[in-house]
Amino acid sequence: MALVPTMGALHEGHLALMREARRRAHTVVTSIFVNPTQFAPTDDFARYPRDLQGDLAKCASVGVDLVFAPLDASVLYPAGDETRVLVPLTARHLEGEFRPHHFEGVATICMKLFQLITPEVAVFGRKDYQQLQVIARMVKDLLLPIEVVGLHTIREADGLALSSRNAYLSFSERTRARVIPNGLRAAVDAYEMGERDTDALSRIARTVIERGTTAIDYVTCAHPQSVVPHPRGTTLGEGDHALLAVAARVGNTRLIDNVVLGEERGPLIFATEAP
Ligand code: AMP
Repeated sequence: MALVPTMGALHEGHLALMREARRRAHTVVTSIFVNPTQFAPTDDFARYPRDLQGDLAKCASVGVDLVFAPLDASVLYPAGDETRVLVPLTARHLEGEFRPHHFEGVATICMKLFQLITPEVAVFGRKDYQQLQVIARMVKDLLLPIEVVGLHTIREADGLALSSRNAYLSFSERTRARVIPNGLRAAVDAYEMGERDTDALSRIARTVIERGTTAIDYVTCAHPQSVVPHPRGTTLGEGDHALLAVAARVGNTRLIDNVVLGEERGPLIFATEAP
């Protein structure tokens, strides 16, 4: 059985994970749950988009066998709930710096879902790259018999990564948001041309991203497995891959995206469907 955990408001990125799950297992389960413990009080939990009927139709269209969509959080967080799963090192940097308890909530809900649904395979998107590494670390450390699969990011034709939060963007914000994939692509191009200085690679992306965003939380070059940022002055070895991750606001909407330099060949894949 393969599990695809989601928070709903499903788009082609989610459906690509479900198709991959379909390829890997006889039975595909999707969970739809807007998990309160991964949101800070100032986050968008209350207004996060919810569309269960539309989501169920989309799940059916890609052959999902079972949807687990608890309507009440008490199903997963019984009265008095206090247990949390911590993956402190992998969760520390990047998103962890700006959303301090976010990955604690993510790891805890995934552990609960794994425990309830007992999948052999769990499929995640590399759009949330650090999340994928946190879950992979947790599965390894807790000796869970689960294969964690990470699927590449599905993008709009202009490169913007699909996200449920894109629904918050006004027309003009949606246009401006293109600077995020464009900045990442500029860094990929520089890497392909031989640039190996991680400060320069981050700066190249940041310069483009600054043109359309309201505020940047980070544009950081990090180790692709540990997700630890490279110290200033780092030069990558010839064959070294590096994660280049960004979090930025367009208007009030916070968007994240990333590429793995050395893995992305040429321009970013702007496919709307998994190859
Ligand atoms: P969410 O509903 O945002 O919690 O996401 C559920 C799963 O879908 C996570 O594993 C995400 O990484 C993945 N996902 C979200 N957006 C995309 C995308 N554009 N491409 C691929 N996977 C995605």
